[in-house]
Amino acid sequence: MPNKCPFCEKGTLRASSREELRYSGGKQILVAGIEYSLCDVCGEESVGSKQARANMRAVADATLSSTGKWTTAQIAEFRDRHGLTQEQAADLLGGGANAFSKYERGEVLPTKAMDLLMRLYDSFAEVRAYVGRGAAPVASVREAWSSAGAGVVSSADSNVFKIGRMKLRPSSLVVANDADWHYEPHSELKYATR
Ligand SMILES: [Zn+2]
Repeated sequence: MPNKCPFCEKGTLRASSREELRYSGGKQILVAGIEYSLCDVCGEESVGSKQARANMRAVADATLSSTGKWTTAQIAEFRDRHGLTQEQAADLLGGGANAFSKYERGEVLPTKAMDLLMRLYDSFAEVRAYVGRGAAPVASVREAWSSAGAGVVSSADSNVFKIGRMKLRPSSLVVANDADWHYEPHSELKYATR
């Protein structure tokens, strides 16, 4: 059944889109692809909840692009690239518990600091190692150490990994002697000896 117009109750709503001037971040910005529905009988316009959500994201993307920041899609791609859930990303990088679901819906725009932090995390393994202390899921840590053939000894306490004389906890995954052991959270383990 086609969407009936809620105003005249005779016409049918046709989905359409156009450019609109919107206020965002304290200034006016021209946003393409703003969605709405138009009644083919009375000509009334309406915006459904799905359209409103898409529009919120379109306004956010236009604003982010105009300031040279990552768009909502780029933020989601960044997260996927590092195998992070929205929750894990917020846990690692901050911004509050629901930060990434808000960023990716366009409900909240990342600050300049957050935009920069995501780019640093994306580009530098050292930053990932530094930021990622204690954030890696335990199961994958165990797998990573084992697959590296690093002589993992199972511990009674599943949160402690013993390698040689070293004891590691998820909260101290980057070992003191970083030249010998290097853990990259969520991606791969690099194992090297001098
Ligand atoms: Zn109508």
